[in-house]
Amino acid sequence: MSEPGVLLRGGRVVDAGGDRIADVLVRDGTVVEVGQKLAATSVETLDAGGCIVAPGLVDLHAHLREPGNEEAETVETGARAAALGGYTAVVAMPNTDPPLDDPAVVGSVIAAGEHAACHVAPAGCITKDRRGHELAPMGELHQLGVRVFTDDGACVESAGVMRRALEYAGSLPGAVVAQHAEDAALAAGGHMHEGAWSSRLGIPGRPAEAETIVVARDVMLAELTGTAVHFLHVSTGAAVALVRDAKARGLPVTAEAAPHHFTLTDAACATFDPAFKVHPPLRTDADVDAIKAGLADGTIDVIATDHAPHRVEAKEAPFEEAPPGMLGLETALALTLTELVEPGVLDLAAALALLSWRPAAIAGLHDHGGPVAPGHPAHLCVIDPAAQWEVDPMRLASRARNTPYVGRKLTGRVRHTMLAGEPVVIDGVAQR
Ligand SMILES: [Zn+2]
Repeated sequence: MSEPGVLLRGGRVVDAGGDRIADVLVRDGTVVEVGQKLAATSVETLDAGGCIVAPGLVDLHAHLREPGNEEAETVETGARAAALGGYTAVVAMPNTDPPLDDPAVVGSVIAAGEHAACHVAPAGCITKDRRGHELAPMGELHQLGVRVFTDDGACVESAGVMRRALEYAGSLPGAVVAQHAEDAALAAGGHMHEGAWSSRLGIPGRPAEAETIVVARDVMLAELTGTAVHFLHVSTGAAVALVRDAKARGLPVTAEAAPHHFTLTDAACATFDPAFKVHPPLRTDADVDAIKAGLADGTIDVIATDHAPHRVEAKEAPFEEAPPGMLGLETALALTLTELVEPGVLDLAAALALLSWRPAAIAGLHDHGGPVAPGHPAHLCVIDPAAQWEVDPMRLASRARNTPYVGRKLTGRVRHTMLAGEPVVIDGVAQR
């Protein structure tokens, strides 16, 4: 006996293959039928009228803070926030305490994610303790399923270590080395973008060159080793240009942008509100325009959240003392729809490619990212593109409150999310 199925009724199905109005019938975790006016018995029907039915979103870059900082977030609460944001899979960054440089710690995160509201795929460290010296046991972590390796939060400073990491990753099928491109010495002591606003505010800055120097170097190392490099949270126009150039030369590089880097600028720091502090920092209007152009022309492959929860007290410190980072999982889709799709920077399918099937492919999460077609796993999200809402930090599912979008009015909201055929969000309410 199979369990009762779920029928998503009357939505506009959008995946990498196209766009059509259809019902979607799901049984036993799998899409079994996509078509007009499906009739089925023993099903729960979820209304998708006026909505988009898409492959679940995939976040390449989320900090779930477990183990070590469960006051800010846990795998459970972060996954719930993700599901409410339309995500069916997230890559959990390894800058935890202890870090994910060890098979036992990675195993504990996998176990914590087993009953979570989305699939949690831990990334592994590139170097032991993220110190940039000695390689982590990447082969052992790969055997546990790790595909994304990064010291995120820290840049791999040594070109020699980065080269060895790439050479080793090149022997691990599907592995990708993801760089937090910020030269530590250039960025040292800086709390925001170095420019007109940092001078006016008297806050020490982090120059754009801290990012571009590392991107330029790692493009060369991708060429030297032939191994894929992924650039996390690209924030500058100059880095976008370097990636565009590298791709034109056929080099194996990919890049992501975070919503805050195409929706906010360094001018926001004039409030001295630590909610606007992030690494790499909010940049200029020209950088925002360049990120948008990079998203539109395919230079940037992925929109990733860099969801970075912090304890409320930590973010109540003065700007220069507060830790960097912003929440992202529950606002990324709506920011993309409001700031990129509505103004015509991207069409809907291109936006979903950046949020779902491109990151799924880069992270090796081949069950995710669609297509919405018979025989494929039913990891889906149903989006009401017309729903209007206002960001209220008290109503977010994340354990933390550090969103920079307090009071921002957004259009587009997740209505249902389905993980392996099970509705984990119904009508905007988390079910687990
Ligand atoms: Zn980072």
